[in-house]
Amino acid sequence: MGSAAAFDFSRASLPTQLFINNEYVDPKTPATFSVYNPRDDSLVSDKVPQAGLDDVNAAVAAATAAFPQWKAITASERRRILLKFAALVRDHAEALGELTRVTLGAPYNAFGKFEIGLCADAFEYNAGWIDKFAGEAYPQQDGFMRITRHEPLGVTAGIVPWNGPLGTVGLKAAPALATGNCFILKPSEKTPFAALALGALIKEAGFPPGVFQVLSGDGQTGALLASHMQIRKVSFTGSIATGKRIQKMAAESNLKRVTLELGGKSPAVVFNDSNLDNAVTWCVNAITTNSGQVCFAASRVYVQEGIFDQFSQKYKAALEERAKRINDPEHEDTLMGPLVDKAQFQRVTGFVERGAQTNKLLTGGQRVGDKGFFIQPTVFTGVEPDAELYREEIFGPVSILNSFKTEEEVVKKANAIEYGLMAGVFTQDINKALRVASEFESGMVGINCISLNFLNVPFGGSKQSGLGRECGRSVLEHFTEPKTVMINLTY
Ligand code: NAD
Repeated sequence: MGSAAAFDFSRASLPTQLFINNEYVDPKTPATFSVYNPRDDSLVSDKVPQAGLDDVNAAVAAATAAFPQWKAITASERRRILLKFAALVRDHAEALGELTRVTLGAPYNAFGKFEIGLCADAFEYNAGWIDKFAGEAYPQQDGFMRITRHEPLGVTAGIVPWNGPLGTVGLKAAPALATGNCFILKPSEKTPFAALALGALIKEAGFPPGVFQVLSGDGQTGALLASHMQIRKVSFTGSIATGKRIQKMAAESNLKRVTLELGGKSPAVVFNDSNLDNAVTWCVNAITTNSGQVCFAASRVYVQEGIFDQFSQKYKAALEERAKRINDPEHEDTLMGPLVDKAQFQRVTGFVERGAQTNKLLTGGQRVGDKGFFIQPTVFTGVEPDAELYREEIFGPVSILNSFKTEEEVVKKANAIEYGLMAGVFTQDINKALRVASEFESGMVGINCISLNFLNVPFGGSKQSGLGRECGRSVLEHFTEPKTVMINLTY
């Protein structure tokens, strides 16, 4: 454990206050909501604070007041604060993991450790950019010199989902803060505690008051942020439906900038000449990690006819092996925990029950145990392109497995839907791999891999999977405004 004396949170003492202007405070108008543990649907807390308009206004006022100082702070000082915050997140990873696990249900070793590490990594990565994100100078011409600068936007907000409660914070807050913006975080109403606990670490790291704040609440709090006249940008990760609402609110308020990281229905295309075991391993991990509640999960698998039977057998066997590791997320060796809550369980099992009426089940389809929201990894075969299983994001451990004959046919199938987050191609033929990679209508493509990301390259979707990019240099551009300065050299 690290030295943050103020961090005394655990499942026995959950954080139940908002974090505004470097202080934990109650909502100005008392309002709370409840959260449950998906391993048995027991009540975890009915005291999670719901931030209302006055709280949002207080946070925006504090951020507005802090912005001039934060924008002007030296690069080395800003970097020191971000790096200290990253170190504190690492020091408290297990405690933060517990605060997430009690309402998300994802096991720490199989998922929590990764997504909290991603948060710390993102702060370290973006801290490194602080004095390297240079503008441009153009050749002198006609007596004028032209330079561009990247100006921070001011008060920004991040609205995040429940499936990667701290990983998504790292992807948004770190670049926002590194480029000199103030940042207000709204975690999902399903996973509020790790985010609220960050307040103690924010203060300990040395962020000045108002620079980095946390407001818990549901979609109403999110809407207050998205439509606020003094917030200059919202970076959102979540469903397409909510993303569209946020873009509308942004346009109808102050035309704030919007980044949208939305859903996926990612195709994995496996050719006859692929390394079969490698393809199976990636496809299995990609649909079972976090019980399939991953935006870029490989939920449509297309396998060429020559190896279809072999692939099916291995895929089925590996998923059934994985199903043996479905267990209480509190156990160290559990690989798959429950779905996040009753609503998600009903949604996923609804897809499975309707799908089973008209499609063939290769494996799974059943609930595991009689309490909590555990479900087997489930695969349907021979699903028709107009079926909901084919076209809609299920967000659980459910995939469809179809065969194909030719490259042309499979590219058409892969691109036939509105999602475009991630795609994967498995083959030993580099020419074919690169050809297919360029044909995919997708923001990200894996060759002999799928469902992965790196902090130093753009992350995001095309078509209805998103707008804008996170990670790499791209995210810094999305959190800044270019300013062009023209210098008359003749006076
Ligand atoms: P969601 O859209 O229901 O909620 C996401 C966030 O938006 C939550 O914090 C919620 O409180 C808030 N919200 C809800 N209604 C709002 C409104 N009207 N105005 C403002 N904010 C509002 O999504 P979810 O169920 O939490 O997450 C699952 C979805 O997220 C899936 O579709 C998944 O694919 C997607 N996702 C995408 C990525 C990515 O990087 N592309 C990563 C993770 C998850």
